[in-house]
Amino acid sequence: DTKRFDGKVTLVTGAAGNIGLATAERLAASGSAIALLDLGGAKLDDAVAKVARAGVTARGYACDVTDAAQVQEIVDRVVADFGRIDFLFNNAGYQGAFAPVHAYPTEDFSRVMTINVCGAFHVLQAVARHMVGRNFGRIVNTASMAGVGGPPNMAGYAASKFAIVGLTQTASKDLAPYNIRVNAISPAFMGPGFMWDRQVELQAKAGSQYFSSDPKVVAEQMINSVPMRRYGDITEIPGVVEFLLGDDSSYMTGVNLPIAGG
Ligand code: NAD
Repeated sequence: DTKRFDGKVTLVTGAAGNIGLATAERLAASGSAIALLDLGGAKLDDAVAKVARAGVTARGYACDVTDAAQVQEIVDRVVADFGRIDFLFNNAGYQGAFAPVHAYPTEDFSRVMTINVCGAFHVLQAVARHMVGRNFGRIVNTASMAGVGGPPNMAGYAASKFAIVGLTQTASKDLAPYNIRVNAISPAFMGPGFMWDRQVELQAKAGSQYFSSDPKVVAEQMINSVPMRRYGDITEIPGVVEFLLGDDSSYMTGVNLPIAGG
C-alpha cells in the first residue's frame, strides 16, 4: 500500500510542540521519514515515539535554532542520518510578552526576534544549502495572522511574523531557480489548550481598550472577531502543510496561506 510521501524525508522544527508534532504525525502517516528538531528533553523523546508509531523512521535532534553553528551541524547530521532532506517545516516559535508597545519589555522583544526570525533564518539557510545542491526542495514556514495585521500588545510577535512573511517571499525568489518552493502558513486563534489560555489571560492582563480585563470576556471577544465564530483546532493545520509540501501546490511559491476561520 503506497503513500504519497513514501521515500521522502522531512525536517520539522518545533516538532515537540502542538503544531509541529501534529504535522509530523500527519506527514509520517503519509509515509515520510521524519527528523524532529526541538530543544530536547522528555518532550522531544515523547514526540519521536508518537511519530514512530506510523511505522516510519523518526529521530529526535536537540537543537537551539538561535545558534547558527549548531543548526548547521544538526542539519548536516540529519542529512548524514537520512541521506537527504526533501521537505522542511520551519515552525519553531515563541509568542512573547503581551504589553502595549510603550511598555513592552525590551529584552523580550530581542528574544522573540532571535527565536522567531533569526532561528527560522538559520534553519532555512542551512537546509536550503543542502537543497540547492540537489535541485529539489519544499519549505513551509510558520508565520501567523499576527504577521498579516499586527494585533494589539504583541509588538515582538507581530514584528517577527511580518519578518517571516518577508523571508518567505525573498527565499521563494532566491530559490526558485533550484526547484525549491517556499511558502508560509498563517494560523490565527488555535485552541483549546495552553497557547489559547495564555493568550486570553495575557491580553486581559495587558489592559487595553481592545480587550476586557476578564479573560472569559476576552475569549468571547476573540471568537466574535472570527467569521466562522470558533477557534481553529490543531488538526486543521497539518493538511494545509501537507498540501504546500506536496505536488498539489506545484505552481505555488512565496504565498502565505491564512488558516484563520475567515
Ligand atoms: P508550541 O509552544 O507548542 O511549540 C513551539 C515549539 O518550538 C516548542 O516545542 C518549543 O520547544 C520550540 N522552540 C522554541 N524555541 C526554540 C528554539 N530556540 N530552538 C528550538 N526549538 C524551539 O506552540 P505551537 O502553537 O505549536 O507553535 C508553533 C508555531 O506556530 C510557532 O511558530 C507559533 O508562533 C506559530 N503559531 C501558533 C499559533 C497558535 O495559536 N498556536 C498561531 C499562529 C502561529
